[in-house]
Amino acid sequence: MEEFLANLPRCFHNRIVTNKDFRIFAKTFLTMFKLSIQNFLTKNNFQQLNLKAVLFDMDGVLFDSMPAHAKAWLRVMNDYNLPFTETEAYLNEGQPGADTINEVFKRKHGRDSTEEERAEIYSVKVKYFDECGDPKPMPFALELLELLKEQELTLGVVTGSAQPLLLKNIEAYFPGIFKKEHIVSAFDVERGKPFPEPYLKSLEKVNLKPWEAVVIENAPFGVQASSAAQIYTIGVNTGPIDKSYLLDNGADIVFDSVKDLFENWGKFEFT
Ligand code: CA
Repeated sequence: MEEFLANLPRCFHNRIVTNKDFRIFAKTFLTMFKLSIQNFLTKNNFQQLNLKAVLFDMDGVLFDSMPAHAKAWLRVMNDYNLPFTETEAYLNEGQPGADTINEVFKRKHGRDSTEEERAEIYSVKVKYFDECGDPKPMPFALELLELLKEQELTLGVVTGSAQPLLLKNIEAYFPGIFKKEHIVSAFDVERGKPFPEPYLKSLEKVNLKPWEAVVIENAPFGVQASSAAQIYTIGVNTGPIDKSYLLDNGADIVFDSVKDLFENWGKFEFT
């Protein structure tokens, strides 16, 4: 949003001078949302976005769990003497943990890891993550979900996670919001994000076409997966990486937080 505001005409830089200025400001602001949808439709050769469902990524969108994931990754990689940085934890977010382990393993040892090695390292990572305590819901995630529910939209979850407590946590923090059959986890797909399969599977579960849904994602691999599935992709930049990573990997629009998205949802004029 800051870049957009910086590019506004001079009269908007310090203050909004008159009612007329305000009307121009509001119109320009609304246009940005419509323009992003129009670009998406043109890119995919679709006629219109007829919204019926909103598909949510989980870690870093519904739950403020990424700092704990990053911490667990750094700790386990350090245990196994595999070089890894916090930034990498965020850049690799969303893809299956086994793929992240294999990439780092190849870099260090010049060979693929075995399935046993991946499973062992991943199980330690899960243990370290669990030691970080219960996940915290993302601020304004529940408010956004309740707003969308009021608008009678179908709500789905699409996560690469294989956490055993996943369903329990979703129901505990967002009671009555998601139907179990509308949740796609690592167990439902063969090729996780950045491949489009998780989002294609989700469309199948809610029985809709790509132009009838939008995705809310926070990670570069996640927006890659969603845009490859030809779904309008809303990025929420809830972590420390630059938002250009989300735009460059396929997000159609990016907000600074879930709160920012919640406060601006009406401007999309989906309904
Ligand atoms: Ca995520």
